[in-house]
Amino acid sequence: MKSEPSAATGFASNPLDRRADLRDDRAALDKLLDAADRVVMSAEKIVLVAGEPPRALLTRAEAEAIGADAPVFLGMDERAVFGGSTGIDPEILKERGHLVIDLRSIAVQKLVSPEVAAILGEAKSMLDWHARHGFCARCGHATDINNAGWRRDCPACGATHFPRTDPVVIMLIHRGDKCVLGRKPQFAPQMYSCLAGFVEAGETFEDAVRRETLEEVGLKAGAVRYYASQPWPMPFSQLMIGCMAEALDETITIQDDELADARWFTRDEVAMMRAGTHPEGIFFPPRIAIAHTLLQAWLDGKA
Ligand SMILES: [Zn+2]
Repeated sequence: MKSEPSAATGFASNPLDRRADLRDDRAALDKLLDAADRVVMSAEKIVLVAGEPPRALLTRAEAEAIGADAPVFLGMDERAVFGGSTGIDPEILKERGHLVIDLRSIAVQKLVSPEVAAILGEAKSMLDWHARHGFCARCGHATDINNAGWRRDCPACGATHFPRTDPVVIMLIHRGDKCVLGRKPQFAPQMYSCLAGFVEAGETFEDAVRRETLEEVGLKAGAVRYYASQPWPMPFSQLMIGCMAEALDETITIQDDELADARWFTRDEVAMMRAGTHPEGIFFPPRIAIAHTLLQAWLDGKA
């Protein structure tokens, strides 16, 4: 495993060599497709073959038996891996003995290895993009898939469209021996996490961290330091940019409807959250989330 902090985050251990040089080589891809593994999605969930453990990399025969296509070349490990979708309803797939599970649950429950989870993340980001970008954003005409799934071209106006990844800053705001964590209404009860928000046009990561911190909790942040990043394919393709920043004041004012609560936690409290011994039962997100990586680093004095 690579040694940088990003390598320890969820969905970061992708073993595939993407082999972009093959994307326009139809003959080579057709040859690889014969023996390739397939990731198949149905209604934004992953289709697995039931078993102990369940298997998310389907054989060609298994994928074709449920009517899956394979428009996206994800890369190569020992074999090529392609991604595709089936239009068969998840309930019918379950009746036929498959599991159909959302990616977050697959990762949290460790149903597959971290390496396969990362491949599933790449597949989900790409297949979601195709599902939502069938028509040209410039002229509205139906677009064609090219470059082994890595580009859509408009035959009417000539526009080319590329898969997008949206940058999101996620930040551990600290001051002295305490840090700010917040919770959204949709979080599991008693879970608190780092503040986060989308980077807007014309901003640096640092600017986005300072703006989001002010918008969400009314705190001014000073210098911002990058710590690690993480591909996060939920709900769609995002890149989480994990940062640390020092708060310049201490009065929290929740200014954002998206937050149900935000407060300061001492280092001792965060250590109890990690150990599962916080007196109020408060905890932070599991290991697959980069918030976990940031909090671990802060607790261990690495950031
Ligand atoms: Zn067009």
